[in-house]
Formats: sequence, structure tokens, C-alpha cells
Amino acid sequence: MSEEKTVQREKVVIIGSGPAGLTAAVYAGRAMLEPVVIVGDQLGGQIAMSSEVENYPAFAEVITGQELIDRMVKQAQKFGAKLEYDHVIKVDFTGGSPHRVETYNKIYEADAVIVTAGASPRKLGIPGEDKFWGRGVSTCGTCDGFFYRGRDVVVIGGGDSAMEEGIFLTKFADKVTVIHRRDELRAGPVLQKRAFANPKMEFVWDTVPEQVLGDEEVNGVQLRNVKTGETSKMDTDGFFIFIGHIPNSQIFAGQLEMDEEGYVISDELMRTSVEGVFAAGEIQDSVYRQVATSVGQGCAAAMSAERWLAAKE
Ligand code: NAP
Repeated sequence: MSEEKTVQREKVVIIGSGPAGLTAAVYAGRAMLEPVVIVGDQLGGQIAMSSEVENYPAFAEVITGQELIDRMVKQAQKFGAKLEYDHVIKVDFTGGSPHRVETYNKIYEADAVIVTAGASPRKLGIPGEDKFWGRGVSTCGTCDGFFYRGRDVVVIGGGDSAMEEGIFLTKFADKVTVIHRRDELRAGPVLQKRAFANPKMEFVWDTVPEQVLGDEEVNGVQLRNVKTGETSKMDTDGFFIFIGHIPNSQIFAGQLEMDEEGYVISDELMRTSVEGVFAAGEIQDSVYRQVATSVGQGCAAAMSAERWLAAKE
């Protein structure tokens, strides 16, 4: 770790600012631990990009992800949490507490660390995907949908994200074609029903994209039917990928125990393999990945950290 940076001692450092991190900040703040939240790439994480959240308890009316995050931030700050708009580049958990967390600007020495770095959209790994990234290829309908007013787009995936984002994209696009590798959707019944009822949505089953096509920007996609092996070309202006997520755990490699998919392993008290390091939210949850579950895990991680610190004293 670079020793030229300022070393700052803290009781609790929270890595990540999604629902898990901000809830941990509310609880650690109320416990007078003055937590520092290292925000990361995106304040609020993935949900901040969501145009509609309708399954978070207590909000019967539709609320945007950004509004939900704004409220969480306000609440965390009210209890003394400090938000640092910085990015963690390295951690050293090998020496025991205090643990070292290095960001672009500082080195934190923290009695306890709560890891809530979340997950990122999975990519397909096909030709053209990277080449046309930001020029027709996207993983965020909320961010890029506006550019597709009156145009045709394809959506890859059959889960809740693909349906939710596909429906959102119909606000702008003339046609949204969902391309799914099986002949039935993974999405829950409510979103399925809404997607099938949407006159702007079409479905192509048993099909995978093999290549994103274009010149300066995307203008088509090469497809393959997985049952017949037949290949075809479809014209499109936009290529939206919603095929799940991968945990943002690369910086914890060799420091925290993980499963084969890179999810940090935590127990029922949100403890990781290192004493004084706790984890919550999507970085350790490959199953539920809901705002409500991340919030609960963030709360549990902060309570465990608080109890662990109290016992240590
Ligand atoms: P997901 O449920 O894992 O679905 C991923 C989809 O992408 C699946 O249909 C999968 O096909 C397909 N897929 C995966 N890899 C692929 C590949 N290489 N090529 C082609 N297709 C591929 O992911 P998600 O939709 O992002 O949802 C993640 C979690 O968030 C879920 O628990 C979901 O319920 C939740 N969520 C909830 C809401 C809501 O309630 N409003 C909204 C968004 C997300 P298969 O079906 O064949 O596996």
C-alpha cells in the first residue's frame, strides 16, 4: 500500500453505497460508530438506475430507485455517517483489526469493515459486444432508453430485469424484441403478464445472439436458434443485455473466502472468513438480490459489527 497517502483511523468503514451499505450506515451511525461509506462507482448501486421500484415495503406508490437512495442517504447522514466519493483499490485484511482499506485518496485503518460492494451486469462475451459498447450496446435501459425514441431495440435475457427494462424501453422504442435462450421466461408472473400484454414487445424463443453487427453504431445482430442450429440476422438499433450479474469481489481475492462464482462467503451473522470484516448485499447473495433483502443484510452486518466491536473492547 502506498504510504504517501494520508492514513485515517475509523471505527467502521463501509465499502459500497447501495441499499446494503446505506442501511449498514444508518445502523452503525445510530450506534455512534461514525461510519465512513466509500461510495464507489455509483452512489446507490444498481437500484439507483431503476426507474420504478414497486416491491419495497411501505411504498405502495411507485418510487424511483434514485428517490429511494436519496432517502437512505439522508437518513444515514442524519445519524452521522460520512460519505466519501472515492473508490477502494486495495484491501489488506491479513494483519487483523484494524484492517487497511486503500482508496484513490487515502488509506483507512478501520476497526471493522462492512463489505457491500454489490454486483455488476454480466456480459455475453460475444464479438461486437465491447466494440459497440456505448454505441448501441447497453446494460441500462433507464440510462440509455431515451436515445432509442422511435427506433427498434433487442433485449437479451428472460428474467425480471429483462422484462422490467424491456417494458421501460417501450416508452421510447417502437419495437422491443426479447431474445431468450429457452422457450419460457424466468421472470415472475406479474412482469411476464405485463410484458406479454405490451403491444410493442415481441419474443424470439430458443435463440442466442452470436455477434453484434454494425458500422459506426449497432445496426443488427446475428442469431442462432439453439434447437435447430439455424442462424439468422435481425436489424436493430439497440442491443440491451440483461442476463444476470457477477459479484464485485475482485479486490477481495486472496483476502476473503469466496465460492466458485466469486460471491463472498458469509455466515448467518454476516461474518466473513476474516474477523472484524462483515459482508452484506449482492456481493454475498446470489439468491435473493432484492432491495428488501439487501437492506436486511446491511442491518444485520452493522449490528454484528457493533456487537463484535463492543466485545473486543
Ligand atoms: P436472472 O434472474 O439470473 O435472469 C437472467 C436471464 O438471462 C435468464 O433468463 C437467463 O436464461 C438469461 N441468461 C443468462 N446467461 C445468459 C447467456 N449467456 N446468454 C443468454 N441468456 C442468458 O437475472 P435478473 O433478471 O437480472 O434478476 C436477478 C435477480 O433480481 C432475480 O432474483 C430477480 O428476481 C431480481 N429482480 C427483481 C425485479 C423485480 O422484482 N421487480 C426486477 C429486476 C430483478 P435462463 O432463464 O435460461 O437461465
